Amino acid sequence: MKVTVIVGGVGGARFLLGVKAALGLPPVGAPDTETKHQITAVVNTGDDIWLHGLRICPDLDTCMYTLGGGSDTERGWGQRDETWTVSNELKAYGADADWFALGDKDIATHLIRSRMLRAGYPLSAVTEALCDRWRPGVTLLPMSDDRVETHVVVDLPSSGERRAIHFQEWWVRYRAKLPAHAFVPVGADEAKAGPGVLEAIAGADVILLAPSNPVVSIGTVLAVPGVKAALRSASAPVVGVSPIIGGRPLRGMADACLAAIGVDTTAEAVGRHYGARKDDAAEGLLDGWLIAEGERADVPGVEVRDVPLIMSGPDATAAMVRAAFDLAGVRP
Ligand code: GDP
Ligand code: CA
Repeated sequence: MKVTVIVGGVGGARFLLGVKAALGLPPVGAPDTETKHQITAVVNTGDDIWLHGLRICPDLDTCMYTLGGGSDTERGWGQRDETWTVSNELKAYGADADWFALGDKDIATHLIRSRMLRAGYPLSAVTEALCDRWRPGVTLLPMSDDRVETHVVVDLPSSGERRAIHFQEWWVRYRAKLPAHAFVPVGADEAKAGPGVLEAIAGADVILLAPSNPVVSIGTVLAVPGVKAALRSASAPVVGVSPIIGGRPLRGMADACLAAIGVDTTAEAVGRHYGARKDDAAEGLLDGWLIAEGERADVPGVEVRDVPLIMSGPDATAAMVRAAFDLAGVRP
């Protein structure tokens, strides 16, 4: 079975562990033998940033480390058993941006990526090369090889001046506490979908929207020209999974992002925001929408089902994915 999943970072990576488990694959690493299943993840790259001359791709790396068995699950980002020598040295120099820590092992990834990008390789080829080592067992496709960066329009606390700052500065430095007036995926209009992205959507047996941030993870992938149209015209069913449980995001600050685009922090509002694929007049994307057990949501044109939605481990997440397959009417 061909499963294509639209993902961001931590929520997306955990969900992919469950997709693998639901297909009987080892959640971590690549299977030893050929399998009849193929999982492709289309990964948000709007969080990417140049720092210290290095290209950092947080969501791609979170997926790669998590699925390759090298992530720090306690901290929630980066590699496990990290050390911070380089970041501390940079801080001692007063180098910008001191609010963004990079682990020493992580820096090796960014050095290789940056070197390859400067040599002219596209991000998709770089990602494939990095995955040769991590063997995630999922094909990780950057949403685009073109530079797309999410900027956030805020009033700066120092001057009150209205400015667009990089998403990472808003998220990491200001902890999403500065009210956001808008999110702008800079470069998205001129970007092309990455190699294989539209094909993975068109050729899938089932398409899943991970419970990733609807605005700055899924929303940014959807901003790449052609992706929405591919989802709307795909022959496979599209099922989304709510990141909002009990009116709150599970981890992180998705509520601050939803507020900025005028969407309530509820599973119903996010489902309506994605909309129904059935609706010819609109731009909807969903055939099915999974919400948390015991909740209710009315999303016109979309089949809604409530199931346990806490990704406490690959087995629990696999049950969630099987519910998504069920709702989609597919069977691995
Ligand atoms: P990021 O790029 O690292 O911020 O991660 P994502 O965008 O992929 O995922 C973040 C979202 O995952 C948050 O909005 C959370 O609400 C959601 N999330 C985290 N853990 C869980 C979980 O166990 N269940 C569900 N349904 N959502 C989760
Ligand atoms: Ca992210």
